[in-house]
Amino acid sequence: MTVSAQSKLALLGGSKAVTLEEGDLFKWPIVTEEDEQAVLEVIRAGAMSNTDVTAKFEEDFKQWLNMDYALAFNNGTASLQAAIYACGLGVGDELICPSVTYWASGLQAFNLGATVVFADIDPVTLCIDPNDIEHRISDRTKAIMVVHYLGHPADMDPILAIAAKHNLKVIEDVSHAQGGYYKGRRLGTIGHIGAMSLMSGKSLAIGEGGMLVTNDLNMYERALSLGHYERFGAKIVSPELKPYTGLPLGGYKYRMHQVSSAMGRVQLKYYDQRCAEIDKAMNYFWDLLEGVPGLRPHRTPPNTDTTMAGWYAAHGHFVPEELGGLSVTRFCEAVSAEGAPARPGCNLPMHNHSLLHDADVYGHGKPTRIAHASRDVRELDRSLPVSDGIGHRVYSIPWFKHFRPQQIEQYAAAYRKVAENYRELLEGDTGNAPLVGGWHMSNRR
Ligand SMILES: *Cc1c(COP(=O)(O)O)cnc(C)c1O
Repeated sequence: MTVSAQSKLALLGGSKAVTLEEGDLFKWPIVTEEDEQAVLEVIRAGAMSNTDVTAKFEEDFKQWLNMDYALAFNNGTASLQAAIYACGLGVGDELICPSVTYWASGLQAFNLGATVVFADIDPVTLCIDPNDIEHRISDRTKAIMVVHYLGHPADMDPILAIAAKHNLKVIEDVSHAQGGYYKGRRLGTIGHIGAMSLMSGKSLAIGEGGMLVTNDLNMYERALSLGHYERFGAKIVSPELKPYTGLPLGGYKYRMHQVSSAMGRVQLKYYDQRCAEIDKAMNYFWDLLEGVPGLRPHRTPPNTDTTMAGWYAAHGHFVPEELGGLSVTRFCEAVSAEGAPARPGCNLPMHNHSLLHDADVYGHGKPTRIAHASRDVRELDRSLPVSDGIGHRVYSIPWFKHFRPQQIEQYAAAYRKVAENYRELLEGDTGNAPLVGGWHMSNRR
């Protein structure tokens, strides 16, 4: 029996599963005349470095998330550093953080004199594993950094319980999941403080920018004191900060560019509505792949009060055991050949990078990671097995911005076709590199 050209894998000379033009299916952010008008107003007024539009954007954000305080930053990295500082981390203190995330979730601990202690991730949610936190707590632990990774909410309830028991603060890095819900509560509003990137590659995309939210006035003021010099003034009420107003305590300058705030105000207006369409499209894609061997969705159960919002850099789980041991690298090569570009892996686990082992960044005469630490927190015991192996078990999927069934069906067909014909791929499979993924996720479609 001959294999028809349609069912034969494109990688092996068959025809492609994806034939329709992609058009603006993946284009993001959606920019209309309203964005353009708002940005033009700022630049025509020469108000790029003012804070009037930013203040309005912060108001919008507070209302959106129903929070008492919102503070805009020039990027997400700065907002996270300020959140860590707001939690009181200083010299010798420890921040518990997942290793599989973008570096900005934790590396700023170093410039506060603090350090990071990595916890493993849950193999299903890909977020910090609540069962791997408690044994890593020391008397220097001050906070837990939770990342709602690739749009999936972390399991907050057990994390909050651990934090309460040990008197720790919980920071939510919402850079992958703006607008998502965990059991009916908006992400970023559940812990003590939330911070997030709003840069152009994220699902809430406004240009370079970040936002911090909290209901705690003192934490808000600490966050502000680090790099918002002109706002760090007479209005400050925290007694330990009041004597030092006027100069930024961190020596940083973290003001948001008003082109970003202006665009942010417009983007936020339409954001939930646009996310609803993304959610519909992405769930449709996964529904079409229900029951395909080797492939599992990385998603929350549809139609519940725990949601994926904008599905930032959406991924799927790979089960090579169901595909004769096929490598995810080979799988992605074949899916890409079908006209559906797919990449194996996700963020590489940070604990394997030499910056987290031997780099002496500030000239302490010892590794920065343990420069002020009261113990050696480096993972010399290979205690993060899920983080170490996750790159071989995940792959990117198309990040649809519109619900267009015909097109989505073609992309789903590409994944299904490759999985169902995995036997054809085993012969030429040279396997995975030991580490699969990247330190950062460039714009994924
Ligand atoms: C993008 C990102 C950040 C950093 O935000 P920037 O705006 O790029 O500085 C932090 N954490 C995570 C998880 C991110 O993906």
